[in-house]
Amino acid sequence: MDFLLSYNNFKSSEFKNRYLNVTSLNKVYNLFSTKIIGYSVNKIPIKAISIGNGNIKILIWSQMHGNETTSTKALIDFIYFLNNNTYLNSCFTFKIIPILNPDGAETYSRFNANKIDLNRDAKKQSQPESKALIELYNTFKPDFCFNLHDQKTFYNINDLPAVTSFLSPSINKEKTINSIRKKSMGVIGYIYKNLQNHIPGKIGLYNDDFNLNCFGDYLQFLGTPTILFETGQDKNSYSREKSRKWISFSLYLSSICISNNCYDFESYKQIPVQSNLYCDLLLRNIKINELLQDIIIEYKEVLLNNTVIFVPIIKNIGFFDKIFAHKSIILDKNMKNIKFKISIGDDATKLLKYFKIYINL
Ligand SMILES: [Zn+2]
Repeated sequence: MDFLLSYNNFKSSEFKNRYLNVTSLNKVYNLFSTKIIGYSVNKIPIKAISIGNGNIKILIWSQMHGNETTSTKALIDFIYFLNNNTYLNSCFTFKIIPILNPDGAETYSRFNANKIDLNRDAKKQSQPESKALIELYNTFKPDFCFNLHDQKTFYNINDLPAVTSFLSPSINKEKTINSIRKKSMGVIGYIYKNLQNHIPGKIGLYNDDFNLNCFGDYLQFLGTPTILFETGQDKNSYSREKSRKWISFSLYLSSICISNNCYDFESYKQIPVQSNLYCDLLLRNIKINELLQDIIIEYKEVLLNNTVIFVPIIKNIGFFDKIFAHKSIILDKNMKNIKFKISIGDDATKLLKYFKIYINL
């Protein structure tokens, strides 16, 4: 079965919004062999799905940051694909934790209920969610780990938004490439070479500064090849449906690479490191005190009645040369001074209304 050609057939159609909590996944949990591997701070069960009975063991987790839901949707799509794939089921045994941080997912927060960033808790393992992950890691003894996240809208490669990014995390400050790290680089290289045919120039490498408190660095340091998958965002695509598909495809490509032994270390070296020069909305030529200035607006994701809405916030005011935007609006230079005070951090709704700019994301 061709993954991309049949994507719309197996893709799960339930998840319409950016909000995704444990309850939204009940149907998925019921369809597969699912086990409770621990409980969150607020005592919500953390569940892991088992698929396949092959020799190569892969541990995957998503939503370690509760508000990073697109990766989970991509993962669920991949799970549905696996369900019908006898070849991959015979090669691999997957243990999959779709939502590692159920409390964060519930409140649409990066943090767990103790306000801890779980991805800074790898060494300490002070939180029940971190303990559950490490316990499964220790008993399952995976050959590979896949660590799934969503990244912010401001990452770019040249003038294009970073739709996906990847990393084989460092194992020390010197960023030594040992055989473990090289293996995950080889998988990412294979993904990159294939994905370039579909989203050329929109694939980046995530920052590889070493931090042993992060799970990717920690597990790769312990000796398990670990891959960071970051779901980004295509231009002005706030539903992230496009990047969802590409991350799902990347999970598929990883399994093909590993089962066919076609690691591509050379291609990894070609991947450009992403920058953070993108913004959500850029307004040019706003007249403030007779000076034409630019305003950078960031959309803050806010949970309201089980739906994520985007609130425009003023991020910066000034003159910005080297910046790219999901949406740019150049105002008429002859407009009058704006009549009210604006500051960085303000809600920009009033400002946008003033210029009759309506955002429909
Ligand atoms: Zn994250």
